[in-house]
Amino acid sequence: MTAMTEIRPFDPPIPFTRPTLDEATIASVGDVLRSGWITSGPKVQEFESELSGFFGGRPVRTFANGTSTMEVALRIAGIGSGDEVITTPISWVATSNVILTVGATPVFVDIDPITHNIDLNQVEAAIGPNTKAIMPVYLAGLPVDMVQLYDIASRHKLRVIEDAAQALGSSWNGSRIGAIGDLISFSFQANKNLTTIEGGCLVCNNDEEARLAEKLRLQGVTRTGLDGMDVDVLGGKFNLTDVNAAIGLQQLSKLGDFQDQRVKLAQRYFDGFAKTKVVEQGLELPVADFAHSNWHMFQIVLPLDRLDTDRAGIMADLKALGIGTGLHYPPIHLFSLYRERGFTEGMFPIAERIGRSIITLPLFPTLTESDVDRIVAAVAHVLETHLK
Ligand SMILES: *Cc1c(COP(=O)(O)O)cnc(C)c1O
Repeated sequence: MTAMTEIRPFDPPIPFTRPTLDEATIASVGDVLRSGWITSGPKVQEFESELSGFFGGRPVRTFANGTSTMEVALRIAGIGSGDEVITTPISWVATSNVILTVGATPVFVDIDPITHNIDLNQVEAAIGPNTKAIMPVYLAGLPVDMVQLYDIASRHKLRVIEDAAQALGSSWNGSRIGAIGDLISFSFQANKNLTTIEGGCLVCNNDEEARLAEKLRLQGVTRTGLDGMDVDVLGGKFNLTDVNAAIGLQQLSKLGDFQDQRVKLAQRYFDGFAKTKVVEQGLELPVADFAHSNWHMFQIVLPLDRLDTDRAGIMADLKALGIGTGLHYPPIHLFSLYRERGFTEGMFPIAERIGRSIITLPLFPTLTESDVDRIVAAVAHVLETHLK
């Protein structure tokens, strides 16, 4: 399939992801703009109620973005100065930035080389007297072992704040991520499986947490009656608008179709790569976990030690063929802000290798199976030309 297939560049080029927004969605935004109420209002309430149904009836509150959702989750869990939170170095930097924002300390644990998620087998060794919570990330939509996660948390009396930003629609042994667990944070940023342009939501345990979430997202304000108002906690300005919520309602009604398409395309990638030599040549494919993943991304790990170029070289060659790729993610502990806090190269070797070698291939609902076939052929061809 490699040398024989003619490699025809995509023209126009395809991005690694693209939102699916239809005319009904655009019309629903127009309706909100014409309604006279454009910030948080009836659409936000309707969206929260639909999301609550999606998560088995648990209380859900929306926020301006996934980052503020996670910050509020940490505050609800009472995490602040002097506390430690165990997390993964392979995530969007927001995950550990919010730990710093609330005044706590991120404690990184290396990742599993196969799933690319935090290695739960190494978590207990990182727990100390100041550990208050574990913050796992479900990279590309693949959850961690939820039984093992909550077993560790309950034995050590830790809160769990799940960074499920990428895992809307993922599940664990038949239960939806968000329908089980402690505090679960999602993002609706433009690249996510469901987008509100920017946005996020938190699944809470009870109404008391949901009320605190409401206060924390709007200056700590509680209103009573027609004219009563008090502020008893320091909150931020993290509310979602009705414009965003209207988009979210449309997206939620199509999420099942989006995911069916993602599953079909992910399967096509596996079928396509199986007909090539890339795996023998050292390319690592994602875990083919069709029981749990929502296929937020399809990520491959390059065999850099067998190539005569680096990752940027491979990305440039794919770009020349009209194929956009993504980089999710460079290891957080090696960013300057984190090096200043004492983290250095060599501390988390698996995260460092994956962070150097991983790329995200295009996967979004309007991609076609024939697009995937062409991408597979292009990846195989580019690898072949760079093998030492
Ligand atoms: C997108 C994302 C976030 C942050 O979400 P925003 O809505 O961009 O603030 C956090 N963690 C992970 C893993 C993400 O992918």
